[in-house]
Amino acid sequence: MNQNGTTRITSLGDRLDDMTEGEMGALQALHRLLEEVKENPRGGKYDPVQFIEDIEFTLQGIWGFTRDKSFHSHWLDISGCTCPRLDNQERFGTPERITARDCPWHGGQR
Ligand SMILES: [Zn+2]
Repeated sequence: MNQNGTTRITSLGDRLDDMTEGEMGALQALHRLLEEVKENPRGGKYDPVQFIEDIEFTLQGIWGFTRDKSFHSHWLDISGCTCPRLDNQERFGTPERITARDCPWHGGQR
């Protein structure tokens, strides 16, 4: 974790302390939804890749973070994704993403 990451975790705890019940409920509901979509990406009526991204942005908004795609991590967890995990985890916090050409979700490079 870099210095920026450490700062974020500290503020995460502070933020958790003054979070409202409504915000907590929203976070939990969004996380449940996120798990469902990641496990069963073909089960919904929406584009799961776009949907996961939307939820990640919303989570950042509720946490009070900058809405920054560089800090998204759930996109790699979508069932069937063949993108290199470690390479992308190392790039967490940077705008760079390495996608596998044969990935059914990210192969087209959005
Ligand atoms: Zn992928």
